[in-house]
Amino acid sequence: MSSLFERMAVREHEQVVLCRDGGSGLKAVIAIHSTVLGPALGGCRMWPYANEGEAIEDVLRLSRGMTYKAAVAGLNLGGGKAVIIGDSRNQKTETLFRTFGRFVHSLSGRYITAEDVGTTVHDIEWVRMETPYATGISQGMGGSGDPSPMTAWGVYKGMKACTEKALGTASLSGLRVAIQGLGNTGYHLARYLSADRVKLVVTDIDPARVDRVAKEFNAEPVAEDAIYDVDAEMFAPCALGAVVNDATLPRMKFKIIAGTANNVLEDEDRHGQAVKKRGILYAPDFVINCGGLINVASELEGYNVDKVRRQIDNVAGTLHEVFAVSEREGIPTIEAANRVAEQRIEQVARLGRMWMGGRTRGRTRG
Ligand code: NAD
Repeated sequence: MSSLFERMAVREHEQVVLCRDGGSGLKAVIAIHSTVLGPALGGCRMWPYANEGEAIEDVLRLSRGMTYKAAVAGLNLGGGKAVIIGDSRNQKTETLFRTFGRFVHSLSGRYITAEDVGTTVHDIEWVRMETPYATGISQGMGGSGDPSPMTAWGVYKGMKACTEKALGTASLSGLRVAIQGLGNTGYHLARYLSADRVKLVVTDIDPARVDRVAKEFNAEPVAEDAIYDVDAEMFAPCALGAVVNDATLPRMKFKIIAGTANNVLEDEDRHGQAVKKRGILYAPDFVINCGGLINVASELEGYNVDKVRRQIDNVAGTLHEVFAVSEREGIPTIEAANRVAEQRIEQVARLGRMWMGGRTRGRTRG
């Protein structure tokens, strides 16, 4: 196993903070990948990692993803993430999250936290008692509330860019979309698509969620594994990562893959190439699912829903830019998206060096 510094160097992380407190039982890791564009914003995941090595690997991977997501979303934010090692079903306490909040506060705003898998608005409100560097609190407390509808809204808008590119029309009406996962984001995506007269084929491991969407939106349910074989123009992964892999890809007849899930390609390089070879247009996850991040980031400037929607609508333009780079360079869309993100980070870094000998700070794109 390589040393922590070596692991940080692989993805060029700035800082990793190990947080431990015996009284509350807190064991957490905060990773700041980059603050070139601004403070590192990213959620706090609570997960029963088998060991600290696994937790550190996850937080390093996730925090880098946040840098790229913020960069393509046009935000003046860097990338960070935190993980709390523990079982979210029975190990949550007020002291645990408040202690975590004190560690977040000790970074003086270099890292700003929010919800993620295993944490809720309620947990982050405990964190917020100890530090202002916490976003994603309820609207009642002046926050932005649940980001899922905004994430789904961005994906819905992004899907139109995808059909424009792949099918020559930005209208989704009459198309068939296969949705995998009908949780917080999948449900709202189904709602937007159904209102646009899209024919939905859906699955979830929770039958109650399938029933609800089938009834409300006249969607056709299929078994969990059958979703990959559906005859539809689009596949919308809204559950797990790594669902585009060696086993599923040969079964797919879709023209487009566009959903809310993170890390959809099991192997970014290999499956990015394979998707391209099969003539499927892949909307890179961190480009199309940035609506939730834009929503929580808006809290930092005073939450403004109209501004958030305008910013999220830019997803379509960013996807077109990514598709153009992909076509021009003959590279997979995921690689093109990485280049677009890296280019913005480099340009802003250069600006900083040029004008201030340091970091620039400005308003986010409105
Ligand atoms: P969620 O937990 O509310 O919903 C996920 C749904 O997927 C659940 O209904 C679950 O039963 C279902 N599911 C799990 N395994 C499945 C399987 N094998 N087949 C079919 N369904 C399955 O989560 P969410 O907030 O909707 O997030 C979904 C994905 O989107 C995650 O990858 C998440 O990281 C990503 N994402 C979410 C947001 C957000 O705003 N919530 C933002 C960006 C990215």
